[in-house]
Amino acid sequence: MKSWAQRERALQTLSKEVGFVVKPHGDRLRIALAFPNTYWVGMSNLGFQTMYRLFNADDDMVCERFFLPPKQELAELIAARAPLLTLESQTPVGEFDVIAFSVSFEWDYVNVLTLLRLAGLPRRAAERTHRHPLVVVGGAVTFVNPEPLALFADVIAAGEGEALVPGLRRAFSAATDRADLLRLLARERGFYVPSFYEPHYADDGTLAGYTTLRLGSRPVAPDVDVDGGDAGVPMPVRKAALKTTEAVDPPATSIFTPDTEFGARFLVEVVRGCANLCRFCWAGYNYLPVRAFPTERILQLAEAARPHANRVGLVSIALCDHPDIERILTRLNEMGYAISPASLRLDDLTETIVRLLRTSGERTITIAPETGSDRLRRVINKTVTNDEILDRAELIFASGIENLKLYYMIGLPTETDEDLVAIRDLTLQIRDRMLKHARTRGQIGRIVGSVNPLIPKPGTAYQWLPMEDPSEVERKIKRLRSLMADIDNVYFNIKSERHSYYQALLSLGDRRVAPAIEAAERNGLNWRAAVAEAGVDGDFFIFRDRSKDAMLPWDIIDGGMKRPFFEAEYAKSLREEWTLPPKRAQENAKLLPVIQ
Ligand code: SF4
Repeated sequence: MKSWAQRERALQTLSKEVGFVVKPHGDRLRIALAFPNTYWVGMSNLGFQTMYRLFNADDDMVCERFFLPPKQELAELIAARAPLLTLESQTPVGEFDVIAFSVSFEWDYVNVLTLLRLAGLPRRAAERTHRHPLVVVGGAVTFVNPEPLALFADVIAAGEGEALVPGLRRAFSAATDRADLLRLLARERGFYVPSFYEPHYADDGTLAGYTTLRLGSRPVAPDVDVDGGDAGVPMPVRKAALKTTEAVDPPATSIFTPDTEFGARFLVEVVRGCANLCRFCWAGYNYLPVRAFPTERILQLAEAARPHANRVGLVSIALCDHPDIERILTRLNEMGYAISPASLRLDDLTETIVRLLRTSGERTITIAPETGSDRLRRVINKTVTNDEILDRAELIFASGIENLKLYYMIGLPTETDEDLVAIRDLTLQIRDRMLKHARTRGQIGRIVGSVNPLIPKPGTAYQWLPMEDPSEVERKIKRLRSLMADIDNVYFNIKSERHSYYQALLSLGDRRVAPAIEAAERNGLNWRAAVAEAGVDGDFFIFRDRSKDAMLPWDIIDGGMKRPFFEAEYAKSLREEWTLPPKRAQENAKLLPVIQ
């Protein structure tokens, strides 16, 4: 694909958009913002849209977008060796000062490499020089475990965009050259410069620690500084996050386009974080404390977006934790929006909320019982019981909502066959509630179950656990499939183990998995061959008990959680003990100095 064809394509795309920003470059800091997947996927990503808005809100910055081209275009671009252009001004990406990636999913790591290649940049940071743009990688995955991407990024931005942009701007304003810029960024909260940290490993292959660089003198010289200190880079790097969202605009769709996954939908984040702290949930632990966005701003933005969208998507992991949620739903209804909530936490689902959702035209609600038994829910700290779940199911179907989506997990600690049978039994009881109300309406809905094996995630109480043996997971999948077969109006989608294996590798790995990502990018995503070619021992990262490791790869980022808290939570998990909200509040005060 020649540059003129790319330009035409970009203009076509812009002609269908509302809300994009074009600024003269002048001497502004030029940022090419990448979503490492297609336009279709990226434009529905609120984190990506928010970064675009935040950068462009600063008069000294100009931000333009680029995406992974669709397959056919990608092949043409590679064949024509044409430089990749941004959408807004169709400028070659390689001419910008910064290439910023917003990465939300491990599967997109390979696309980061493809985009660097298309932009004409060496993929490894060590091969880039002052002639290249600064490559900054941010997004949710980077403050969970940035290490698999460490060799590709000049800088990893760990934390929330709103808290990171000022630091980036300050460093660029003050820097005298690229080396100085890196040093300045390393001193800013939330910026991790991987080349300043050299990992070293114990004889058994586990991570032993990092040798860090001192920043005080020029040129930067290597030195051992395990504790950081005044002259050293911080160790660990503290995540940057907003202390409060009271006066902050909520992340919301700022560019509307029909060519995206969610189409004409206005997305808005209502509340950040979730107070429940399920022991497997990285989002719960990593977005603390729970912070609600200002009600009036949510409503003003929704009002302004109404000419461009019929449906509003409320993006929050615990939507009902917003103290004004009923008022927000009422006003959105009055504006004539259809409302799509994300997964709803069962314990705060009230009759009013369900009725408001139904009034907005919603016919399906998603809830996450996670398991079928109360016992296993105590293990994972999902603080609801089967009785409460059935009560809420009753509430949902009685309101006229016809369909329910259920999220379950398998491979949880202490799980037995009885817990699998309990998934079936709970689903059947929920189905009874559905049928009871369907009979009176004369129309039967569907229950769709989605089952995922647990991947122990960094930054959770299960971060030390090995993933369950694949043959055992496979056996459980088979067993569950047979338990759920041939139940009318119930459909189960059970994820296969092989998919989870490579996702786990990208989630739990350290810098040593980087060659496998490179090989997978080269060979068209044949992960088995890529891991073999790179000589990466996937089992080492996935199936090993990490509780005795001196350090975990993701300990390089301090997300605010302390090891004793996770250890205490894990011990309670094995004792089948909940950490209930009132007690959690006290413990949080002692153990969760999340944002200081
Ligand atoms: S309720 Fe949902 S979002 Fe909250 S911690 Fe549990 S799994 Fe995570």
